[in-house]
Amino acid sequence: MANSVVSELNNSEVFRMACRQFDQAADAINLPEAIRDRTKYPRRRQAVSLPIRRDDGRIHVFEGYRVQHSLSTGPSKGGIRFHESVTIGEVAALAMWMSWKCSLVGLPYGGAKGGIVVNPRTLSLRELESLSRRYMQEMINILGPQVDIAAPDVGTNEQVMAWMMDTYSNHVGHVEPAIVTGKPLSLGGSQGRREATGVGVAYLIKKYLADMKIPITQATVAIQGFGNVGSETAVAMVGYGAKVIAVSDYTGAVYNPAGIDIPKALAYVQYNKVLTDFEGAEPITNEQLLELPCTVLVPAALERVVNADNAPKLKCRLLAEAANGPTTNEADKVIEARGDIELIPDVLCNSGGVIVSYFEWLQNLQQYYWDRDEVITKLFTILDRAKAAVDAQKEKFQFNRRLAALTLGISRVAEAKQKRGLFP
Ligand code: GLU
Repeated sequence: MANSVVSELNNSEVFRMACRQFDQAADAINLPEAIRDRTKYPRRRQAVSLPIRRDDGRIHVFEGYRVQHSLSTGPSKGGIRFHESVTIGEVAALAMWMSWKCSLVGLPYGGAKGGIVVNPRTLSLRELESLSRRYMQEMINILGPQVDIAAPDVGTNEQVMAWMMDTYSNHVGHVEPAIVTGKPLSLGGSQGRREATGVGVAYLIKKYLADMKIPITQATVAIQGFGNVGSETAVAMVGYGAKVIAVSDYTGAVYNPAGIDIPKALAYVQYNKVLTDFEGAEPITNEQLLELPCTVLVPAALERVVNADNAPKLKCRLLAEAANGPTTNEADKVIEARGDIELIPDVLCNSGGVIVSYFEWLQNLQQYYWDRDEVITKLFTILDRAKAAVDAQKEKFQFNRRLAALTLGISRVAEAKQKRGLFP
């Protein structure tokens, strides 16, 4: 791989972390050298300048990225993140994880990810619309329902997807819902997509707790992050009879050992935007949340929150990675050495989102829509199959569960590349 590409991406600690995971998995399955770089590094990446007019009349230029990690098994697929810490290396890492995730659960997609370096909370609704449309416009040459399909991620939502779908549809001259997933229902969104990631996370937690012989009604849950994924996980866990004792957002965390009233917390956040001063729980720090004694710890926000410093202090039995890349390589080693924490790795744990995105895309292509029961039943079938495959791989090779999931995901992508050969 060209040195300039590698060094640009390697500026990101998150990219280096995803590469170390890849190298470890590639070594574990003796992936031939000849196929490694092709499987590891992104196929295509595009950086764009996004000028928009601010409400005060000034022009501001934002920076946006799209990285398509693999295009060997179908269109690439992945969300678009609006966050001030976005870098091209981070987007490349997230795209890589999307490849392993789609491959692991058997979706006919390669991985992709996009991002804009912006704190969306600092934009008015009109500015957010301009930026979303401009991003789609600048990326139109590399996107398409059979090329690369976008979706929400941190900092984006159904409304952003609606603007992007509208921009693309105007460009091609007809309605094209299959260009993005995670759309509003009125524009061809799927039943169950909004809550899909959280519903999938909670379903897998339920399955693993059953394997661990822990009754879910006695489980306590701490959730770091109260955005779409964290809050839907909380709702689903309460639905299963578990007690959510702590939740957090970027302003801090709240804790109530008797259980937080989740519908009340959701209503509070909808009105106040943040958890600060939520009554019915005491304030603690995000760091304290991660180290709380609990049955299940769910990091549901950004990367690298479980690290070498706090991994020895975790007091959970099960670590359910609802976020992408929440655990550093160093923390992985600590957790493996401790041996007292079960891990549901990100590529399995949060795959419910992209699985229902796949269903949404299928429904859009066929113009035939399913009811929620059908969506959720099919989601659980795929999750059951993926969980069984990961656990069988873990047993067969005595891998930890992350290595089991990654080796399955990576080997399928590498095999597809090898079988297709090189063109010309
Ligand atoms: N952004 C989500 C993820 O990281 C969903 C991607 C999608 O639905 O395409 O898995």
